[in-house]
Amino acid sequence: MSLNPNISENTSHILVFGMGGTIAGLAPNPETSPLQYEAGQVGVDALVAQVQSVVPKGVKLVSRQIANVNSRNLTDAHLTSLGLAVGQALLDSAVRGVVITHGTDTIEETGLFLQITCGKLAQTQSKRVILTGAMLPSNAPGADGPSNLLDALRWASTPIDNCPGGIYAVMDGRGCMAMDLAKRHATALNAPLQNAPSSSVGLINPSWLSGVKAVQAAWSEDLPIPQEGEWPWVEILTSHAGARPETITHWLSSSVQGFVLAGSGHGGFHDDWIEPLDRAMVQGIALVRTTRTGAGSTLPNIPELDAPGCRASGSLTAPRARIALQLALNAAKQANKAGKPLTWQDFFARIADLPEIR
Ligand code: ASP
Repeated sequence: MSLNPNISENTSHILVFGMGGTIAGLAPNPETSPLQYEAGQVGVDALVAQVQSVVPKGVKLVSRQIANVNSRNLTDAHLTSLGLAVGQALLDSAVRGVVITHGTDTIEETGLFLQITCGKLAQTQSKRVILTGAMLPSNAPGADGPSNLLDALRWASTPIDNCPGGIYAVMDGRGCMAMDLAKRHATALNAPLQNAPSSSVGLINPSWLSGVKAVQAAWSEDLPIPQEGEWPWVEILTSHAGARPETITHWLSSSVQGFVLAGSGHGGFHDDWIEPLDRAMVQGIALVRTTRTGAGSTLPNIPELDAPGCRASGSLTAPRARIALQLALNAAKQANKAGKPLTWQDFFARIADLPEIR
């Protein structure tokens, strides 16, 4: 954990959390091979120092390293640390807003996780939390990290009536709700935002803003952050031509608690999975059906009737449905401990049924 020694944490500031990623990456030969690099090499202090002289006047920055990893290696424990740190920052009166530098590979998971665990708090505290990253390592010619970080800092610190407190993301000059972010291109500079309903960071689009407000109105209560070691074990299994029953039966002797089925088309899966999945459900394994197509919603009982207890993912992609199921299983466990008879399906529905911004 490193804190910028120049700024007292009691003065009003933007807190920048570093998680690693390409934005903190270094290429040994940046001129000739900028895409051959190692992510998570540069400290967040150094990333902040690069843009310090151009941040809007009066905006003070404090940085804190939570992790410095390639986000393909992100763990449940990293999410717990980040979620708790963001929650604390939102309650700290000296923090005006939060920026998070993150790898783009799994920024989709982190975006949904933060919305579900801290979205309401950010809204009620009127503070913006902005996720950002980069597609080029920090020492590549034309690196996109500094401009993305600068956009994130500007957005986190601009007056709140332009856009309410909430959990957002910025890449390549555009902003979206972090829960809409997903990397959908291997190399393009706007890869994580390609399919996201978004708005120019400099000029908020009113129809996007009304979509944000509709989502925020529907999100009434944040779910608890699982403690490190308490995250339910959920796997994503992809149905495909030639799928085998063993893909399911293999897990039945493990302590796995949920499957997200990345199905074909409407989210259907191979008939050879029907019997082993029935066995999985009898064992108490939670089941969510989603589509591997990359777009569109997975609706209940379409095209066939769902087995009782199996839940369609709505608009959630498989990586998001996995985070949603983990948080829903954990929330149901906590609720049951407190004597409330709520199921994981009750909590999952709150997430999957949020309005979509178009
Ligand atoms: N593999 C990198 C990461 O997710 C990619 C990136 O940041 O763009 O950390």
